[in-house]
Amino acid sequence: MLNATSVNNRKQKQRMTPDHLFKFHCHPGLPCFTHCCQDVTIVLTPYDIIRLKNNLDISSDKFLDKYTIILPKEKRLIPLVLLQMNEEDKKCPFISSDGCKVYSDRPWACRMFPLDLADDGTFRLIIDSSLCKGLNEKTEWSIAEWLAEQGVVPYDDMNTLFSQVTQPLQAEEMKIENADIQKMIFMVLYNIDKFREFVFKSTFLDRFELSDVQIEKIKRSDPELLKFGFDWIKFGLFGQLLFKVKEKSPE
Ligand code: SF4
Ligand code: SF4
Repeated sequence: MLNATSVNNRKQKQRMTPDHLFKFHCHPGLPCFTHCCQDVTIVLTPYDIIRLKNNLDISSDKFLDKYTIILPKEKRLIPLVLLQMNEEDKKCPFISSDGCKVYSDRPWACRMFPLDLADDGTFRLIIDSSLCKGLNEKTEWSIAEWLAEQGVVPYDDMNTLFSQVTQPLQAEEMKIENADIQKMIFMVLYNIDKFREFVFKSTFLDRFELSDVQIEKIKRSDPELLKFGFDWIKFGLFGQLLFKVKEKSPE
């Protein structure tokens, strides 16, 4: 008879759908507790940054400066933004002996662990039970239950909107040499507090027609402002008619 370990290890190679079952329970009693928060590459999404900087109560500018590495990628307009591990011990800056200090706002990749998502929408285990002892525990989940429990859904929703910006850029290998446009796109996606300043302290609102409700929403909510930013990029780069220029707009 197969035990939890052998079932999970077999699943490591298998591509799984949301109704697949796997066994997993992570808790402080395990010898590996917090080991997976060290020397890992965590790519941060724009929504990850909003959640983390608000959890830490700092500006997005400060967060980028203190906690990230920005990696420009050849042929890609949008660089990768990685969570920076501590220099001395390579641990995540948010780990403590009690676990994750930003647990309620941890990034998408941390919520997914020990699963990974492929481009075709299937899942697989990315670590085996010799390293991740939680895979030897008896608690059984369907993948859909696990994702809901981990609070992945709002992250996925925002990532879908983000991919509507990144996928056309990758598909068309759009070359934009203008450094100001590159900086603007980066700011809209990753530096939400600077983007808010841009919207509310420049001539932006004199140039585009926005309803009072829309203005209030983006003033008060970072996620709403990010969604607005995705539309702004789609308008500016792909010519989608998501904004209306005011008739008497300043040049
Ligand atoms: S390695 Fe697995 S079981 Fe251990 S702390 Fe990380 S997620 Fe939990
Ligand atoms: S953010 Fe939290 S869960 Fe993610 S690597 Fe850091 S300490 Fe671990």
